[in-house]
Amino acid sequence: MNIQATERPASHLFYVTRLRRPLVDRAEGIYFWTEDGRRFIDGSSGPMVSNIGHGNRHVIEAMKRQMDKVSFAYRLHFENEPAEELARRLAGKMPGDLDRIFFVSGGSEAVESAIKLARQWAVATSQPKRWKVISRFPSYHGGTMGALGVTGDLALTETFAPQIQPMPAIPAPTAYRDRDNLTMEQRGVRYADMLEEKILAEGPESVVAFIMEPIGGAATAALVPPDSYFPRIREICDKYGILLIHDEVMSGAARTGRYLGGDHWNCKPDIITLSKGIGSGYAALGAMAASAKLVKPVLDMGGFQHGYTYAGNPLACSAGLAVLEEMERLGCEANAAAMGDLLKSALEGLSKRFPFIAGVRGKGLLIGCDLVADPVTFEPFPKTQATNQRLLDIAYDKGLILYSRRIRGDGAELDNLILAPPLIISAAEIGEMVSILGDSFEQLAH
Ligand code: PMP
Repeated sequence: MNIQATERPASHLFYVTRLRRPLVDRAEGIYFWTEDGRRFIDGSSGPMVSNIGHGNRHVIEAMKRQMDKVSFAYRLHFENEPAEELARRLAGKMPGDLDRIFFVSGGSEAVESAIKLARQWAVATSQPKRWKVISRFPSYHGGTMGALGVTGDLALTETFAPQIQPMPAIPAPTAYRDRDNLTMEQRGVRYADMLEEKILAEGPESVVAFIMEPIGGAATAALVPPDSYFPRIREICDKYGILLIHDEVMSGAARTGRYLGGDHWNCKPDIITLSKGIGSGYAALGAMAASAKLVKPVLDMGGFQHGYTYAGNPLACSAGLAVLEEMERLGCEANAAAMGDLLKSALEGLSKRFPFIAGVRGKGLLIGCDLVADPVTFEPFPKTQATNQRLLDIAYDKGLILYSRRIRGDGAELDNLILAPPLIISAAEIGEMVSILGDSFEQLAH
């Protein structure tokens, strides 16, 4: 099928690209069906969203029951039970004393919230000069202006440079492709030390926070830093009184085999952002977690100046609550860990057959690699080859949905690939996915 040329009347919708796709009809488990009867494996959970899989009856019934009672009640007019209960349950999953939850409707809104909480905390604690949020490149933290300001991908930010508050950034810890005589752990410390250098260059009194994904997502394709990275980052933030924000929008909600990506290292950040998997596609839901200690001065100063109309609405929260229950009942963390191991070794196997697959990495069901012209030097394919788009199209034609991007970071471009099926996937379904993936690489190679 030529996916560029589906014959349908002109659409009034407009999205990022003009690519036309078939109309989706229904979905269940890890599969989608289109109206023309084709079946697709959701090899990326959309953009790493549908963690508990499609068509979950428990979630659907819970949402129906909530709709029969009340779908929307504005948070300034009424409190609601699903929001209270979901906040209580999420707080129990957060590390340390991060037991205050602020609801939003998506990942970008969660990141905006974190940036604004950090800034208001600085003002409320008599540190008004602190406003800069250091980030990393490549990175992705959202499409709204504030979140784009901390996003390290020139392809996405360049056009908006006049509107975005330019934030300082350090390189993401891509230690797996460094060619030096250091051990991985030494590299981890070296990457973390770049944060201290950046803080000193900017002036510590001007920096309020550092934002990072504990396990990288869209920009770095499941980048797992060396173990030594995490304690050193925490140490540096503490030394200069800077808040550590973990963006767990993609790595959270059991995606990597633990509830949070940072749980693999017992991380204790000051703010955590969540979205994607916590609504698992059943509702537009996001959240920010912080400690009472951080939130109190802001509330005492007159309130957190931030909020969205749909935040914490009963319907979205009832979905979030049912998703959390299903995640536990279905053992999503354990299954993500076990199936992730299978998928990762399969990709490692494929990398021996196809040398353009390099740097296989990841945890749980967030598995990634780079697609390169030279697996030793990680030299990228020329942009004109559009390798990422070709792979997406080839796999799509074979009924497998993948997530592959070309990232610009601070200038150097690289194609990457993420494999991230729903966390309920079975070993047989992994086998089916890997078989189509192998055929797709085969076609890409020719
Ligand atoms: N942060 C991270 C780490 C993300 O991966 C994304 C989405 N890819 C966002 C923020 C933005 O989320 P949304 O698209 O829901 O606004």
